[in-house]
Formats: sequence, structure tokens, C-alpha cells
Amino acid sequence: MTGISRKFKRIIILAQTPISKTGNGPAVGGKVNNLLLLGNGSEKDNGNGKRYLVKGIRGWINHAMMAIAKEEGKEVCHTSDKIETQKGENLLPEGFHANGKCYPEKECIKHRLMGSIVKQSKLKFEPVIIVSEANSRGKRETITQAVHIATERRNALKSKSKFSIQDFGERYFSRELTIKIELLEELTREELGFLLKAILYAPELGLGASVNNGGGRVQLKQITLQEVVRSRGFDKQGKVIEEEKTRNLWKEMEEGMKAWPAAANA
Ligand SMILES: [Zn+2]
Repeated sequence: MTGISRKFKRIIILAQTPISKTGNGPAVGGKVNNLLLLGNGSEKDNGNGKRYLVKGIRGWINHAMMAIAKEEGKEVCHTSDKIETQKGENLLPEGFHANGKCYPEKECIKHRLMGSIVKQSKLKFEPVIIVSEANSRGKRETITQAVHIATERRNALKSKSKFSIQDFGERYFSRELTIKIELLEELTREELGFLLKAILYAPELGLGASVNNGGGRVQLKQITLQEVVRSRGFDKQGKVIEEEKTRNLWKEMEEGMKAWPAAANA
């Protein structure tokens, strides 16, 4: 096949959630771990059914990075770029600086990976799109992932009246989920180690809106660093053919794990 090709690295995370309750409505004010499902299409679609975009994974890893850096006493960006309230009260917890404030003079490791409004991230989180397995009818698709989705109908009643102020369905999903993070630039060993350890730490934070009720447990099953060569071309009839050749980089992962935190080697 003649066409174009591109070589890059990516991390594939195979995770499993027994049950994850997602947030309803937009995440407010940088709330921790608010996983959000955005529906698209009709429930009654004849094809694969309603699709949902799982949002909040980047934020989840972001918070895990903050947690592991704090444990090592390394100052990194906070997710907030506000330093103080209008009354001048400090908003930032100790051990953090406002998002992007370290750049460019003393750029912290989290900013090197995640960036901020002043610099692009080195990590591209591929969208996680799920469909209900009940609707997927055993079809295998590469873009969507079939999971179990349940909806609980709820009415919130206004106190002392019979008027319903909210009528919404709360959604849960469970089963395996694959998360792909594409590396837009080469990471140093230290950066790779920091990212891998943040991923390993992330289940400690839970996922979803109901973390405190135990509704957001996530188990990690496998983490793989891959080198990918993706090529795309077309045949004589113009049909586009896409191919991916992958190679797993176990040794590089191991070296990364040793490289962060740096003090462990000193
Ligand atoms: Zn920073």
C-alpha cells in the first residue's frame, strides 16, 4: 500500500468498573472526578443505539498527578488558575501553584505533560465513546465500546408540594473500558514514569459523581506503552485502507517507573 504513515507512541489502559455513576449536567468549578456522559442520538436508534461520550478522564488523571506529586513533596500546577478569591483569600492548597504559572522559567513536570492555556499538552486523550451492550447486538465496532448502561428514573420533588422540579434519569455504566492516550511528543523517562504512576494512583480517587457512596470504583487491568505506525492509503478503486502496526515497549515502561521520582535513584 502506498500512502501516508505516522509513527507515534500511545498508552492503552484497560480498566474495569463494576459500577460507575456519572454526573448529570456539566461539571462545575473544577469539581474533582465528575465523570460525565454526554448522549448523542436517539435511544431508539435502529443501529447501535444511543452513544455516550465519557468525559472527565483527563481530569481524573490530572488529579491523580496532583496527588502523587504532593506525596513526594514536589510542587506542581493546581487545576485552578485562580490564586485568590475576590476578598484576597488564598485558594491554592500548599504545595501547588496556579495552573501554568510555572511556565516557562520553572516548568513543573505536570505542566510539561498536561500543559495549560499557555502551552499545549503532550497528551491527547482519545474520546471514549460507549454504547449500551443491550443495543449493540454483538456488532464489533472499533470506535465505540459496548458496556452495560442502566438508567434510574428519578423525580426530585419540591419540598411540601407535589411539583416536580427535576425529572431526570441517572445513568450508571459498568464493564471494561479502554482508555487511549496518544503521546504527541516524546516523553522523557521521568515524564513517562510520572504519567504511569498517576494512572496507577487514579483508582484511589474513584471515578464518577458518587465516589463517596462507593459508586465509582475503577479497577485497572493492564497498562501498555506502544509504538504505533499508522498508515493510510487507498486501493485502485479509491477505497481507503488504514493499518496500524504496534510494538509493546515493556522495557521503556520499566525504565520510566524507575525514573520518577528522581530522588528514589539518588
Ligand atoms: Zn506547574
